[in-house]
Amino acid sequence: MRKISIFGSTGSIGTQTLDLIERDRDSFDVFAISGARNIELLAEQARRIRPKIAVTADDTAYHALKERLSGTDIDVAAGRSALLDTASEPIDWGMSGIVGFAGLEVSLQIAQSGKVLALANKESMVCGGPLLRAACKQAQTTLLPVDSEHSALFQAMLGEAREDISEITITASGGPFRSWTKDAMSGVTPAQAANHPKWSMGQRISIDSATLFNKALELIEAKELFDFHPSQIKTVIHPQSIIHALVTLRDQAVIAHLGVPDMRGVIGYALFYPKRADLPVAPLDLAALARLDFEDPDEVRFPALRLSREVMEAGGLAGAVLNGAKEAAMDAFLEGQIGFLDMAVSVEKALQDTAWDHNSACLEIDAVKQADKWSRDFVENLKKDA
Ligand code: NAD
Ligand code: MG
Repeated sequence: MRKISIFGSTGSIGTQTLDLIERDRDSFDVFAISGARNIELLAEQARRIRPKIAVTADDTAYHALKERLSGTDIDVAAGRSALLDTASEPIDWGMSGIVGFAGLEVSLQIAQSGKVLALANKESMVCGGPLLRAACKQAQTTLLPVDSEHSALFQAMLGEAREDISEITITASGGPFRSWTKDAMSGVTPAQAANHPKWSMGQRISIDSATLFNKALELIEAKELFDFHPSQIKTVIHPQSIIHALVTLRDQAVIAHLGVPDMRGVIGYALFYPKRADLPVAPLDLAALARLDFEDPDEVRFPALRLSREVMEAGGLAGAVLNGAKEAAMDAFLEGQIGFLDMAVSVEKALQDTAWDHNSACLEIDAVKQADKWSRDFVENLKKDA
């Protein structure tokens, strides 16, 4: 039995991970599950899954969780440091499935004490890629991407010599506003933005998909995971989300990874790696699909892509600044303080501000946290000035 932990178990990635584990209960010994505000669901999961410990990141929720788990032998913990302590326990496999910058330190802990880090939290790679890679290298932890495009790249690259790969391409659905004018996009509401046409995901990543900030994060994630030059990393709009990524070789052969859009395929690959397992994923029926479409992304309507290229070129702390500003801008959008298009404007202003040394090569966790905080404060001040 493999000892595993699932951080962010109450989210979209977390619930799908638990779904796979429950289908193969005898193979896994669940050490920890974690959530934040949804105590009801966390307690219900704990009663079903029977982990050694259930952790909520919300330190005011200890008693609520404890009460809901009374009569069980499940340990209960609450608060940020309890979460990080739990993530530092030795395990065979750990899912980093928390959303946002809050996931970085959890990923780092799993990298230090787990054998396999299943990384859904793409913000970890965007903000602290070199840190996380170094931690995995030092502890000899296997890092498996749990993002459909990056898992596809990982799989398509297997067996290919690195020097034979000339380009990698990740696809983008284009989100719900792919064909909208900029004018129409200016009035978009959070509910419209969170309604993704192809993937069922958490609210924040769905809104990121609508601005194409999700793709911007993923381009940076691809650079940090696979270490290609930014000019070798491409994206193409593919509304059906059937091809997830393509690897172009020096002889112009292109290896594509296809599958129906279902994250359980991606999570299952990481869960059973290096073996393949039967997964509850629908088969791909190309004839029923009839066609696959592609188009170039429009960087005028979706400036996030242009910004991601700037960040890839700059390196250092620029990823943390882009992500922190983007998270703060999304909070403001969700609260109705700024419009949909203002999110990219805020991020661009933060990246352009000279008060921060974006090129700093010194990637210490404290520097990354400072860059994150600086960019959030910057967006906060933009709102005040507006
Ligand atoms: P979600 O919002 O559905 O779930 C987030 C989880 O994180 C929940 O368990 C929540 O309780 C927890 N959480 C939130 N804030 C926290 C905090 N401050 N501290 C501790 N825990 C906190 O998000 P999701 O869609 O499952 O996405 C999780 C991560 O996976 C994100 O980084 C996302 O970009 C990535 N990802 C998601 C998908 C998908 O299909 N959902 C696909 C690819 C990558
Ligand atoms: Mg993705």
